[in-house]
Amino acid sequence: MSAKRDYYDILGVGRDASQEVIKTAYRKLARKYHPDMNTEEDKKQAEEKFKQLSEAYEVLSDPKKRQMYDQYGHEGVSQQFGQGGFTWNDFTHFNDIEDILGTLLGGRFGGESISDRLFGRSSRGGFGGKREGGDLQVTIALTLAEISTGTTKKVQLHRYEKCKICNGVGGKGVKNCTKCGGSGQVRQVSQSFFGQFINVATCPACGGNGRMVSQICGNCNGTGRSDVVATVAIRIPAGVSKGNYLSLRGQGNAGEQGGAIGDLIAVIDEIADSVFERRNSDVFTRQYISFPTAALGGEIEVPTLNGKVRMKIPRGTQSGKVFLLKGKGLTELNSHRKGDELIEVCVKVPDPISQEQEKMIRELDKLL
Ligand SMILES: [Zn+2]
Ligand SMILES: [Zn+2]
Repeated sequence: MSAKRDYYDILGVGRDASQEVIKTAYRKLARKYHPDMNTEEDKKQAEEKFKQLSEAYEVLSDPKKRQMYDQYGHEGVSQQFGQGGFTWNDFTHFNDIEDILGTLLGGRFGGESISDRLFGRSSRGGFGGKREGGDLQVTIALTLAEISTGTTKKVQLHRYEKCKICNGVGGKGVKNCTKCGGSGQVRQVSQSFFGQFINVATCPACGGNGRMVSQICGNCNGTGRSDVVATVAIRIPAGVSKGNYLSLRGQGNAGEQGGAIGDLIAVIDEIADSVFERRNSDVFTRQYISFPTAALGGEIEVPTLNGKVRMKIPRGTQSGKVFLLKGKGLTELNSHRKGDELIEVCVKVPDPISQEQEKMIRELDKLL
């Protein structure tokens, strides 16, 4: 091998340079010899320089490798790299120049780093995993009466369930996928400025689970799951409110080829009530009484969430007075405390008024 340039010389730093100095020097030169910033003629040369820089940086930025180099020179670190010497596959510091490389490789996207894209270490998809089923969502509309007692609702929904014929396997005669040999991954060689790279992708034949069947299940077409209409009973506790939700584990979609089953999310909605208005755990209603009852007192029948009850009206009750029925409201969620029922009583003015009524009201008016 011809005389190889000294790593410190390449980076233009002293032998006692700190890690910080080395990094700064490397970044400065990387920007200078960045192949995109050079004309076509010296592109080749710039590429070569860029690679040399990166090799020097790879060694000097690692205290162990640097020590070996300091002691034994190039001999000391050559076996760190392959037969042909340093290649981009040996470079572990793409993160340090990702911003510089950005323009070269089209920038970051989707949270994937440039080195991840180069080496196909994509975080997306995941290898060898079974495909998950995913969650399902249903909305459950409840009356105030149902909310007050709690209830069980049966809902019908379409969902994927594990195929009963093949038990989720997808067919008969399970064997390793012939395309990927059971690893669930396929390698693709791609060319880039950094040379040849091997991209690892999810195997398209087996979808990443590494298995195949010799006879595909006719019921599920090999997916291991089938679309069914299921009836699910959902128990709802007393006191829920609009927007609350219940998570039913394992009641969502079955995954493909035995993959994890998702959850069923039941979102609560409230049906407006014709009699009561909900105020947290209290309920409010307006009831009308006659003038004689308001003036002289009496007893009226009032609705509650669980049937009618009789309520005393004291003598001399003014229109708009609010009475409280203790504990006749809603149970608070996750406690045994109960809210109250609020009843606003209003004096009902008769309409239309008969001639006889009119006569008596006029007489009453004179007395008042
Ligand atoms: Zn099947
Ligand atoms: Zn495969």
